[in-house]
Amino acid sequence: MIIVMQSTATKEQSQYIIEELTEKGLTPTPLYGVERTVIAVIGEERDLSVSHLESQPGVEKVMRVVKPYKLVSRESKRENTVIEVNGIKIGSDQLAIIAGPCSVESEEQMNTAASELAAMGIKLLRGGAYKPRSGPYSFQGLGEDGLDILRKTADAHGMAVVTELLDIRHIDHVVPKSDIIQIGARNMQNFQLLKELGSIKKPVLLKRGMAATIEEFLLAAEYILAHGNPDVILCERGIRTFEQATRNTLALAAIPLAKELSHLPIIADPTHGTGKKSLIEAMTKASIAAGADGVMIEVHPNPSEALSDAQQQLTPSEFRILMNNIQPIIKACNKTL
Ligand code: PEP
Ligand code: MN
Repeated sequence: MIIVMQSTATKEQSQYIIEELTEKGLTPTPLYGVERTVIAVIGEERDLSVSHLESQPGVEKVMRVVKPYKLVSRESKRENTVIEVNGIKIGSDQLAIIAGPCSVESEEQMNTAASELAAMGIKLLRGGAYKPRSGPYSFQGLGEDGLDILRKTADAHGMAVVTELLDIRHIDHVVPKSDIIQIGARNMQNFQLLKELGSIKKPVLLKRGMAATIEEFLLAAEYILAHGNPDVILCERGIRTFEQATRNTLALAAIPLAKELSHLPIIADPTHGTGKKSLIEAMTKASIAAGADGVMIEVHPNPSEALSDAQQQLTPSEFRILMNNIQPIIKACNKTL
């Protein structure tokens, strides 16, 4: 950490800071310049509060030199984290494909979706039983019944369940019935929920908040690791920008950046990232080319009748075409399925 003192700061004010930091076990070294003093601090700076230090008399500016997250960082673990679910090694050369409807609506809908997807070799089935909807009058999901349908359908087709945990009060029935617990964009900074996820023994798919910086995204993942669960998969699902032509702006650079900063796997969600069927294939290709460890795509047997996100879900045959068209990119990126 670097602490820059004001040009008017007294020697006593610098000394006060030095003593406080020394007492906390750090090693502050003052550099007395002609115009001002700078204090270089060596030691574990993550526990220090920048705002506390900046509020001390004589301090002008405090700069951190290490990242505020630790466990998720590449520095703490050089090799990629690989999370295996239903034979798919997420974070390896194998590209993970998660597909299925936005919401679980009925047994028939899930069966049709799952049998089509399973026939294409898809092993990870998504479907929301609890839906985070912008308005209270929209379809909220089938809840526990939806979970049962999802579990039954996935088992019948040899697939794993990826579903959203919306509320801390649902942990006890959502976790046992799922294989990957999705935390939606709106809950990325639900810190109590993130802490609880630390003690579950299932991988967490953490979606980026729609207004979250990369640092906040990685700090959210840090919560889960810091509370004991190392299996976190990041998901770039688009952020809110001034652009109205797409539902969100899929931040492709977040993919290689997350790989640079963290050892955790990162997948892309080109469905929510664009909100437009016609753009999903191109953004899937772009995500794979950017280094994504996988993609999550919404597929519904009859999108126009869907109870949520009707405008962005692909039919199974559209998804089959997408799967065919992405093959050259998968190969070019040295990935397999
Ligand atoms: C979803 O995947 O169904 C979903 C609600 O996504 P997000 O949290 O990214 O909006
Ligand atoms: Mn959706």
